[in-house]
Amino acid sequence: MDFDFTPEQSQFKDELREFLRAEVPLEKQEVFGQWSEEQYQFGREINRQLAARNWLAIGLPEKYGGGGKGAIERGILAEELGYGRVPKAGFIGLGIVAPAIMAFGTKDQKDLYLSPIAKGEVEYCQGFSEPNVGSDLASLELRAERDGDGYVLNGAKMFTSYAFQADYIYLLARTDPQAEKHRGISLFIVDMKTSGISLQPLPYINGEMAAQVDFDNVCLPWSSLIGEENRGWYQAMTTLDYERSGLGRYGSVRRVFDDITDFCNDSAPDGGQPLAEHPLVRHQLADRRLGMETWKLLCWRVAWLQSTGSTPNAEASIAFLYGTDERLRFAEMAMEVLGPYATLRNGSGQAPLLGNIEGIHREAMHLHGAGTTEIHRNIIAQRGLGMPR
Ligand SMILES: Cc1cc2nc3c(=O)[nH]c(=O)nc-3n(C[C@H](O)[C@H](O)[C@H](O)COP(=O)(O)OP(=O)(O)OC[C@H]3O[C@@H](n4cnc5c(N)ncnc54)[C@H](O)[C@@H]3O)c2cc1C
Repeated sequence: MDFDFTPEQSQFKDELREFLRAEVPLEKQEVFGQWSEEQYQFGREINRQLAARNWLAIGLPEKYGGGGKGAIERGILAEELGYGRVPKAGFIGLGIVAPAIMAFGTKDQKDLYLSPIAKGEVEYCQGFSEPNVGSDLASLELRAERDGDGYVLNGAKMFTSYAFQADYIYLLARTDPQAEKHRGISLFIVDMKTSGISLQPLPYINGEMAAQVDFDNVCLPWSSLIGEENRGWYQAMTTLDYERSGLGRYGSVRRVFDDITDFCNDSAPDGGQPLAEHPLVRHQLADRRLGMETWKLLCWRVAWLQSTGSTPNAEASIAFLYGTDERLRFAEMAMEVLGPYATLRNGSGQAPLLGNIEGIHREAMHLHGAGTTEIHRNIIAQRGLGMPR
């Protein structure tokens, strides 16, 4: 493994960091555990500015408005956006949909969908989970039946983040109910304005309003199918593995770790010695520094594997699971070190570090998105350790 950046990659990282420092002032930065429409719209604006420099879709070919670079540059971008606390927008289109279209889309689909994603013009949501189906995703029930002019969708999707903002939903539906469950599923891109789609609001704990998305005789043209009919399960799983490095999540938590380190060096909340002189605080921070460095290396190993053309799978789950656990360890340590003040939310005059400790503690309880921690353990056992299903 070689973790040295090339001179061009280092230059990209420096220029990007400079740009984010100038364009993302403190008051616009994302705060853990707090979602707002205003911040999300600001995230979209930053995306458009990144796109104007060909940085947003850094991994897509230049002919589609991308940067024509590889997995290492994607990792640099993700880590810096996380560290710069850029409010998240557009990441489902960029990170999940675009790679699927690149791998399995027709020429017409590439021409139609890729450039708006690269320019930051469109938002996607992901319709995988359903009211009765989560971890056992291959049992999904949303039906896509062929009729004369295309497909007709009936059923529902659940926990659909960004459904209210999205222009399109990228979804999995059952196209062959007779087939073995993994083999009767197909991938589609559906315009959210299509007649028969309705949203039931579903509030998340961070203030975001997600949705249950209902489909009532929604008619789709043949061209909405991505890749091969009934191969959607395999296509979706392959493209999820292409992009996952976890560096964005690492970057955002690392920023709070660096902030609390500075805070402990500088502050003496009781008017006495700075927190950094307290032996227990020093050791707790030193322990978490070990965790942060381990997490970073695990994420970069995934990015490096991607850059060699392989598709990391157990390695991505190892990095993801370690990150989920480390985020919680860090949040609990920060709560203990800063005491009751750390429970104050952003907006309270006395909240330390913009309320990020309270927010990160709340978000660290989120163990379900992108596969639950148990499912990642199953993947590591099966694919990393060769154990039976
Ligand atoms: C904040 C948030 C945002 C989300 N955004 C989206 C989104 O945009 N699009 C989308 O499609 N989905 C989204 N999801 C849904 C997410 O993918 C599911 O919550 C997840 O797949 C788990 O499904 P479930 O909630 O139905 O739990 P279940 O699958 O019912 O699991 C319940 C519990 O049983 C455990 N369990 C289940 N199966 C096994 C097993 N085989 N071995 C061991 N333990 C097991 C699980 O780990 C979990 O602890 C989001 C979820 C959250 C919390």
